Amino acid sequence: MYTRKRILVTGGSGFLGSHLCERLLREGDDVLCLDNFFTGTKDNILHLLDNPHFELIRHDVTFPLYVEVDEIYNLACPASPIHYQFDPVQTTKTCVHGAINMLGLAKRVRAKIFQASTSEVYGDPEVHPQPESYWGSVNPIGRRSCYDEGKRCAETLFFDYHRQHKLRIKVARIFNTYGPRMHPNDGRVVSNFIVQALQNEPITIYGDGRQTRSFCYVDDLIEAFIRLMSTDDECTGPMNLGNPGEFTIRELAETIIAMTGSASKLTFTQLPSDDPMQRKPDISLARKVLDWEPRISLEQGLQPTIAYFEQLLKGSQ
Ligand code: NAD
Ligand code: UDP
Repeated sequence: MYTRKRILVTGGSGFLGSHLCERLLREGDDVLCLDNFFTGTKDNILHLLDNPHFELIRHDVTFPLYVEVDEIYNLACPASPIHYQFDPVQTTKTCVHGAINMLGLAKRVRAKIFQASTSEVYGDPEVHPQPESYWGSVNPIGRRSCYDEGKRCAETLFFDYHRQHKLRIKVARIFNTYGPRMHPNDGRVVSNFIVQALQNEPITIYGDGRQTRSFCYVDDLIEAFIRLMSTDDECTGPMNLGNPGEFTIRELAETIIAMTGSASKLTFTQLPSDDPMQRKPDISLARKVLDWEPRISLEQGLQPTIAYFEQLLKGSQ
């Protein structure tokens, strides 16, 4: 009997998606990687293309898809502010139409479906750290809204499909995650600072650098994805996934300068609008239900990430 699970990963050639595809293949699953290559690249999955259990489809999730699968991980969506603000209408479509199409597919084939939601659903939070019960403080008409509200609407759709059609859903609220294969030009803070430090260029701190973020290493996050997907059907989430260690952006800059031995100096520029002042996940639920917590410290995770960008910059010289 054929026992391998057939798993669809949308956004599979992106940063998180490529690590997830790798992990699922290691688990012995058949992986269908779907991407429109907006922010993802074939380079991220080049090493998987020869694997007979791996298949790549160029497709945009805003259009319907007909395949037969047992599980779906819906990750397709640009994730960094620069990328999701490049074409905000397309971002909302990807979040909302993408969710409708993937939920429709899950309904037709009775697949279990995972949604990569985000800590951005909490907006600029008034509650700290953020538990899943917090409804958030989100500007509906700002520059981040296409992503924040798009992801909030996707969560609504997931829960309505669950209530109305008895779909098995798993909604993860992902907090800032970093690691090898982050896009070097996507403007996210970890990739920006590492690339700037390696080139001895000024480190661009937006605002005064006192805003905080919590950074999770990609391997820790993917472990949580797998555990959440295999929970009982009653466990729908939403569930916060991230590293509760909290750092100011200035601390992050100083750590990266020290670890790279860089001569870079800090420069301070204007804080973008609606930039959250603080963010730290309450991961009590994940600890309890998944028996999971991140194991990799910021310095441990920055080592392979810095090594990745060093290689990338050498290759581009
Ligand atoms: P990424 O940009 O590297 O990956 C997103 C992938 O989706 C890319 O490969 C891109 O080409 C693809 N994509 C975008 N629009 C698409 C469309 N319409 N159809 C098909 N493919 C499309 O970003 P990432 O960091 O890997 O994020 C993956 C998911 O996790 C996203 O949904 C993001 O919102 C969520 N997330 C990530 C983080 C993080 O810190 N990395 C935090 C919160 C949530
Ligand atoms: N940031 C910064 N310099 C940069 C890029 C980002 O100071 O070169 C800040 C940004 O203003 C935010 C934090 O770092 O306060 C995290 O930004 P990122 O875009 O990585 O993620 P998000 O804001 O979505 O959490």
